[in-house]
Amino acid sequence: MNLMSNNKKIKAVKCHNCGLIQHYSHLRCLNCKSESFEDIEATGGCRLITFTILTAVPTEFLEKRPYGLGIVEFENGVRAIGQITTQKDLKTGMKLRPIFKVIKMGGKQIHTYLFEPY
Ligand SMILES: [Zn+2]
Repeated sequence: MNLMSNNKKIKAVKCHNCGLIQHYSHLRCLNCKSESFEDIEATGGCRLITFTILTAVPTEFLEKRPYGLGIVEFENGVRAIGQITTQKDLKTGMKLRPIFKVIKMGGKQIHTYLFEPY
């Protein structure tokens, strides 16, 4: 499963037992250890929870250096990590929106997203 489907949604899972929303890669709920989940998608706008400015970047992103990397939370509780389109005037709590892109990395086309202030 990809974090993002082809219809440009950011995905997560919600525990059937306790309701915790978490990344789909975990086999069990981080709270109650249940293995029963439903797939959900990020909805509504998002806010910046935390961020950093990367200067030591992966080689494929050298031309973008430095850039912002942040964790956001959507209105329904889904959190996601991603690059931010700017490194200027970033503040925790600010509103962002995802921008979906196709990039080339190592000869492959990868569907990804960035977060943009608005
Ligand atoms: Zn749970």
